[in-house]
Amino acid sequence: MPPSLLVLHYAEIALKGENRGWFEGRLKDNLQDALRAAGAPGSVRRERGRIVVALADPSPAALEAACGAVSRTPGVAWFAAAEEAPRDIGAIEALVVARARASAGSFAVDTRRADKTFPLTSMEVNRRVGAAVVAATGRPVDLGSPAETLGIEIAADRAFVLGPRRAGPGGLPVGSSGRVVALLSGGIDSPVAAWRMMRRGCRVLAVHFFNGAAGGEGVLEKLDLLGEALARWQGRLNLRVVPFEAIQRAIVAAVPADHRMIVYRRTMLRLADRIRESENARALVTGDSVGQVASQTLENLACAYAAVPGPVLAPLSGAEKEEIIADARRVGTFEASCLPHQDCCSFLISPHPATKARLREVEEMEAAVAWGTLLEEALAAAPLRSYPAGG
Ligand code: ATP
Ligand code: MG
Repeated sequence: MPPSLLVLHYAEIALKGENRGWFEGRLKDNLQDALRAAGAPGSVRRERGRIVVALADPSPAALEAACGAVSRTPGVAWFAAAEEAPRDIGAIEALVVARARASAGSFAVDTRRADKTFPLTSMEVNRRVGAAVVAATGRPVDLGSPAETLGIEIAADRAFVLGPRRAGPGGLPVGSSGRVVALLSGGIDSPVAAWRMMRRGCRVLAVHFFNGAAGGEGVLEKLDLLGEALARWQGRLNLRVVPFEAIQRAIVAAVPADHRMIVYRRTMLRLADRIRESENARALVTGDSVGQVASQTLENLACAYAAVPGPVLAPLSGAEKEEIIADARRVGTFEASCLPHQDCCSFLISPHPATKARLREVEEMEAAVAWGTLLEEALAAAPLRSYPAGG
């Protein structure tokens, strides 16, 4: 059997001018890692305008595993399984006709010619191969919305006949934008926020604040499921679980019930920012969505984010819940996020939390908390859970 081939096209990397080679290199390395983790290793070659993957194992199972891995590699816009042909119109035509015989319904031929020295233009190839398909199969041409698009790519030294296009995540290769620390709660939103930043080229380190009394052990199992799902998109994912119960008790002792939530959030951000610093990361990420819950009024978000100097990215700030849920299903975190758990934010708070926190007042309340060395102790006792890419 000849090796299974995949032809990949990248998303925005094409726009990156002088850095393009570096971005392509990132994507290539990430693809290699993802394929290996999926149990379908192969060679990944950069060519002009495309990446070509040749799998070591020619079996359909390896191809399917590889397609899954590629479809979860940020930076990939779309890809297709491909057959190789010599750079000869007769050979290309024969392969496309053979492929067209395997299915039915309307079709269109779509040729891309990276190599402009090929004797026929893309349009001429489309017409000639299209006519051959009609003659051989009687299938109708439909350029508007064909049931099947028969893709052809003509490279410098060979041509490819493509199978059905499959979508990648788009965006930028993980690692090309730097590192971020994402606050991962266990709810629906924060895993999606983390994933969206992966798709913007960020390598995510996750942090969870854990209150055993409020959440119980179920939270950890849930976090494991979320960690495994997210690791499928960026490769290995590390999660720090920071004990939060002692801190929350100190806050409860000093802060009125209606302001505890905002103080919890500010304290989480402060702790996450220390981790950000020690991990040499550039920004914090939350799953906040403006107006969704009491802690997410603009006033409260402003008050929370003022606790830290660095940028706090909230990629869902303008998203609708329905869009977030659709993303969560795609990412593979929705079901785990829906498992019941008590978020530590609800630990001994008022049923009517303040929705317009004032920074000055909140700072005064925080000054009354007996912090001692609680923050340092929590960070020192924060175990690392690590999820491999293939999990
Ligand atoms: P989510 O669905 O992500 O839990 P939410 O809409 O329920 O978000 P909150 O519970 O107020 O809103 O949390 C807002 C954000 O604060 C979360 O998206 C997350 O980034 C962060 N956060 C809240 N609780 C925790 C926690 N225990 N550990 C880490 N981050 C948290
Ligand atoms: Mg929540």
